[in-house]
Amino acid sequence: MDTKIGVYVCKGCDIGKSLDLNTFEEVATEQGAAFVKTHDALCSPEGVQFIHDDVASEGLNRVSVCACSGRVFPELFVFGDDKLTDRANMREQCVWCHPTGDEDTQMLAEDIIRMSIARLKVAEPPVPYVEETSKEIMVIGGGIAGMNAAMSSAQAGYKVHLIEKEGQLGGWAAKFSKVFPKVPPYQELEDSGWEKLAEKVKLNDNITVHLSTTIKKTSGQPGKFEVTLQNGDSGNQLMIGSIIQATGWKPYDPKKLDYLGYGSSPDVVTNIELEEMVLKGDIKRPSDGKAPESIAFIQCAGSRDQDHLPYCSAVCCRVSLKQAKYIREKYPNAQIYIIYKDVRSPAQFEMFYVNVQNDDGVFMTKGEIAKVEAKDGKILIDVEETLLGEDIQIEADMLVLASGMVPTTKVPDKILEEHAAAVEGEEAPADDGKTDDGKKAAEAAEPGAKILNLTYRQGTDLPTLKYGFPDSHFICFPYETLRTGIYAAGAVRAPMDLASSASDGVGAAMKALQAVESVSKGVAVHPRSGDSTFPDFFFQKCTQCKRCTEECPFGTLDEDEKGTPLPNPFRCRRCGICMGACPERIISFKDYSVHMISSMIKAINIPDEFDEKPRILAFVCENDAMPALDMAGVKRLQYNSMLRIIPLRCLGSMNSVWVSDALSAGFDGVILLGCKKGDDYQCHFIRGSELANTRMGNVREKLQQLVLEEDRVELHEVAISDYDKIPKIFDDFLETIERVGPNPYKGM
Ligand code: SF4
Ligand code: SF4
Repeated sequence: MDTKIGVYVCKGCDIGKSLDLNTFEEVATEQGAAFVKTHDALCSPEGVQFIHDDVASEGLNRVSVCACSGRVFPELFVFGDDKLTDRANMREQCVWCHPTGDEDTQMLAEDIIRMSIARLKVAEPPVPYVEETSKEIMVIGGGIAGMNAAMSSAQAGYKVHLIEKEGQLGGWAAKFSKVFPKVPPYQELEDSGWEKLAEKVKLNDNITVHLSTTIKKTSGQPGKFEVTLQNGDSGNQLMIGSIIQATGWKPYDPKKLDYLGYGSSPDVVTNIELEEMVLKGDIKRPSDGKAPESIAFIQCAGSRDQDHLPYCSAVCCRVSLKQAKYIREKYPNAQIYIIYKDVRSPAQFEMFYVNVQNDDGVFMTKGEIAKVEAKDGKILIDVEETLLGEDIQIEADMLVLASGMVPTTKVPDKILEEHAAAVEGEEAPADDGKTDDGKKAAEAAEPGAKILNLTYRQGTDLPTLKYGFPDSHFICFPYETLRTGIYAAGAVRAPMDLASSASDGVGAAMKALQAVESVSKGVAVHPRSGDSTFPDFFFQKCTQCKRCTEECPFGTLDEDEKGTPLPNPFRCRRCGICMGACPERIISFKDYSVHMISSMIKAINIPDEFDEKPRILAFVCENDAMPALDMAGVKRLQYNSMLRIIPLRCLGSMNSVWVSDALSAGFDGVILLGCKKGDDYQCHFIRGSELANTRMGNVREKLQQLVLEEDRVELHEVAISDYDKIPKIFDDFLETIERVGPNPYKGM
C-alpha cells in the first residue's frame, strides 16, 4: 500500500519561537512527505481534530507529529488501526536542550523530521495475532499464596485449577500450630485461618482442586498452555491461559549448619523441627524426652551469610519470638535465650517483639556465635561481642536454629555446577553464528526444578536469578518471571510471611488475568503492554545459527530438528533482542526492523565540515535512558546538538549492522545508552543490556576491519534517575570524538 505522510509541527512549548519553521516544507517533501502543516498546540482538542480532518480529507495513512515526547499524551495521536503515527521529539530532545535560534538546533530539528519520515515510509501498521485462547488459570501450590491466588481469580469470574502435590490444602500454614499476631494489639499468637480459607476454596464453583497431583508436562504458550497432570497413574489434560506458581519454600538444609552444632546432638533442632513438636503438643528434649528447662535460639542460622543464604529470610526472627511464646506458655519456668544479629520484626510486629522482650523469662542479646558444643547432656554456646560488653557462655537443654527459606525453584548447587561445566566445555559459537549441532543447545538449557516440566527449548522450569528465586525483578516487575504468562507468588519469589503471601497471591492473580485478557486480543501484556506487533521471520534465509533461540530471554523460540526457530508468538515480549541477534537480519516487526533503523540513519544529513559539525549517533533504550533524556529536557539541561537520537525497544535489539551503517554514512561516533546490567540489572528485558555489552565485541571487530578507532563507539548505563548525568555523557563523548578526529569515510 502506498504511504501518504503528513507532517505536523507544533508551535507550542517554545518550538515555534526557537526554530525557523519555513525550512521544514522543503526538508519534508524532499524526504517523501506529502506536506507540512503547523499548529499552535497540537495537543489541544482543536489540534488533534485538525489532524483527524486531514487524515479523512487528504487520505493520509502516516502522520508525523513533531511536538513533545511520545511519552506525553500517547493516547491523543491515534488515527485508526490502519494508520501509523510517529512522535518526533521536537520539544524535550530539541528546543528545550539546545539554544533558541541556533543554526545547529535548526539542523537537528530538520534531521528529526527526516528520521521521522524515513521511519514512517518503512514501518507498517501492526496486525494483532489473534487465535482462540483459554482464559482458565492454573495455580500450582495450595498454600496461603496459592489459595489466595485461586480465590481472587475465581471471584473475578475466571475458572481456576488449583494443583496441590499433597493430599490436603494449606501448605506450610497447615503445619504451624499458631502464627504471629496480625491484629491489634499484636500481642497474642493467632490461628493462621488456613482451614476456613481451604473450605471457601473447595466450595467455590469456579475452582477445581486437584490434590495429590503434580505437573507431568507443560507445553504451548500463554492462552494455550497444554498441561498434563499426574495423579497416581492417571493424567488429566488441561488447556490453560496463564499459570501462577505458588510452590513456596523449603527449609535450608540443616546438615549444612553443623558449624552451629546441628548433628552434634539430637537436642539441636531447627525451627521447623520445633514447630513439628509444638503441633504434636509435645515439646520435649529429643535426647531423653524430658521437658526442657532452658532453650536457646540462634538467629540467622545460615541466613545473611555469604557461605550459606546471603539474604535475610524475613520471617525467622518473628518465628523465634513466636516459638519463645509457645515454650513459655507450656513451661512457665523455662528460660529462653535468643542470640541475634539484628531482630527484624518490622512495622506493627515491633509491638509483638516488645511483648516478648518484656517477658522476664526471655533473655535476648545481639552477638556472634563463637562455638557450639554438646557436652554432658547440655548444649554450650559461646557468644562474643554481646550487648553486655563481654563474652558469655549459655548452657541450654535444647538449641533451636532459626534456619531460613530456600525457594522451591532453587536447583541444587551440584546440578548447577555440572551444568555450568558442561556449557563451558562447549566451544563458543563461531563468529558467523553458524553452530551446526544441537548439542550445545541441549546442554545450554537451564537445569530446572522439575515443577512445571516445560517443553521449552531453554529449559524445563522457571529460570531463576540470584539465589534461586524466579521473580524477574522483585522491585520493578513483581510476580513476573522469565516465562511470559507464568507468574510467581508467595515465598517462591521472595522470603515472606503468611500475610504477605496472601496479598502476593492476589497480586499474581491480577497479573495472570491481565495476561489471559491481553493474549486473547493478541497484544503484549508487559512491559510493552498493548503492543500488537510480533517478530516475523524470513525463514528462507535462516542459517539455523540458533542465536535467536539462545538469546531470547523469554524462551519464545523452540527449534525444529534442523535448528530452525519455531516461534510461539504469545510467549513473546516484543523486545527485539532476536532481531539484534540475527546475523542474517531476517527478523523484523511491522513497525521496528533492521531496515527501518538503517533507513533512519541514512536519512540524516551529514555535513562535510567536521571542525564545526561532527555528527554522533545515539541509540537510546526507550525504557530508562529515553525518559532520562526527556527529563534532562524538562529540566532545560543543555548539551551539544551534534547528536542524532534513535530510540530502541531495548539495547539488546541493536543489530551491529547499524553501527557499520552509521560509520559508513559518515557519523564520527556512535553512543549507546541502555539500562544497568548484572545481578542488580534494570533492563526491562532482563538480558538486553548484557547482550548489548557482549555484542560490543563484534562492534570492536568491525571497527578494526574498517581501520577505525575503538573510541568511536561507547556504551553507557543510564538509570531513569540519571537525567542530570546526560549532558556530561554527551559532551564528554563529543570531546573524545573531536580528539579522535573526523570519520575518514565521511563524504565517501
Ligand atoms: S522479540 Fe524478544 S521475546 Fe520476542 S522472540 Fe524476539 S527476543 Fe524473544
Ligand atoms: S532466524 Fe536468524 S538468528 Fe535465528 S537461527 Fe535463523 S539466522 Fe540464526
